[in-house]
Amino acid sequence: MTILEARTLLDARKISPTELAREYTERAKALNSKTNAVITFTDGSSEAGRQTDETVAKNPTVSSPLRDIPYVLKDNISTKGILTSCASKMLSNYVPFYNAFVYDALTSCGAVLIGKTNMDEFAMGSTSETSCFGPVHNPRNLSRVPGGSSGGSASAVASGAAVFAIGSDTGGSIRQPAAFCGAVGLKPTYGAVSRRGLIAYASSLDQIGPIAQTVRDAGIVFDAIALKDNGDMTSRGAQSVSDRLTGDVRGMRVGIAREFYENLPSDIAARLQDAAKTLEKNGAVLTEISFPRLKDALPAYYILACAEASSNLARFDGIRYGYHTPDATVSLDDFIRRTRTEGFGEEVRRRILLGTYVLSAGYYDAYYGKAQLVRRAVAGDFRKLFESVDILLTPTAPTSPPEIGAALSPVELYQTDICTVPVNIAGLPGVSVPCGRDNFGMPVGAQIIGKAFSEATILNAALAIENEIGSFSAEAGSYTDGR
Ligand code: GLN
Repeated sequence: MTILEARTLLDARKISPTELAREYTERAKALNSKTNAVITFTDGSSEAGRQTDETVAKNPTVSSPLRDIPYVLKDNISTKGILTSCASKMLSNYVPFYNAFVYDALTSCGAVLIGKTNMDEFAMGSTSETSCFGPVHNPRNLSRVPGGSSGGSASAVASGAAVFAIGSDTGGSIRQPAAFCGAVGLKPTYGAVSRRGLIAYASSLDQIGPIAQTVRDAGIVFDAIALKDNGDMTSRGAQSVSDRLTGDVRGMRVGIAREFYENLPSDIAARLQDAAKTLEKNGAVLTEISFPRLKDALPAYYILACAEASSNLARFDGIRYGYHTPDATVSLDDFIRRTRTEGFGEEVRRRILLGTYVLSAGYYDAYYGKAQLVRRAVAGDFRKLFESVDILLTPTAPTSPPEIGAALSPVELYQTDICTVPVNIAGLPGVSVPCGRDNFGMPVGAQIIGKAFSEATILNAALAIENEIGSFSAEAGSYTDGR
């Protein structure tokens, strides 16, 4: 069910909140043997259920559309009393003593947390294969990856294990898994949603947002979490969008930047063309434009993200919390070295080393300093483009979801983020909306990028596409076993 469908049943008292939560929990547990989307189940008897009950009991007039709706949170979002592992051995026993802002916000709406979702370790990856809990499977075809790093969140929503999910997006981790699973993923403007309690990957790029089955559902969740939080100095909140979602794109100026379409497989290109034609048919004006710095944004992203990660992940030393080496040690240095070597997976170690390298004296100017300049230039390019267009329409991902275990090299994997990372570099909002299927029958996502705080505009364009091409929501609950 979508949020709106579940809302209708709840309001008509055709189903009770307890029944709904129980049904989703049972369903999610049954599906998990296929998808591995959920790391921890948090059903009614748990801390999560208790917190929601208490909040709603204190305020019986909670009238949010999310009241009693079962959802899942990515496992890098802090939940008091509930394991928050980042899918890493390093935090495999870490139970936070405070809640992330978004979790509190959703609890105060009466939404019911039923699980914490699997992901790439510390949100580093694009396939959800680097989790210490094993890979996540794409419910549209279990032999394929669901994308990453919020792969568990997208898989859960697409398989009907949860009504909606929360993910985080540093370089595409909400939009790309949403695209691969046939869901709607919204990466909000930097600062629209508080990051307090999100375990940081790259703080200047990280943003929390919804993965939902439909555009309207994504808007409802965005409105519930895009609030100003004094506990995050970059948080500004945002105007609500739900009351402005009409799907009206008349007169909207849509930029098609040719660089995003270079080397695109023909089936994906054809679906993007369907999306463009839909916008045009509904009154939008298409213009071909150019975004020459697209190729520069990718290396700049990987330098900045690794640099920030090397700093953010320095706190995991095994001394106060988290994994620590069982081996007897000769010195504190040795204890920390062993703990970090054993606790972090290969990809995380690679990024910490890369980040340390680009920040080190002698290399700082050549790498980190230069990447900062590229970042500013990319943001400037977007600002200029948005003088002549209202949105950009691009593919979300340049390929179909790979087979699990395809073992692409790190650089090949990084290259698949080319369409999504510029949005984070510039702090802009982006949404991925399904626009049909590729030659393998897998969902294809169209990405819509807008100016800062133009979530309503990009969601309206997404809604126009969804109205015409359709969502995958009716298919939630069906899955195929692949070949
Ligand atoms: N795939 C990108 C990376 O590995 C993005 C990850 C993310 O957005 N968290 O850095």
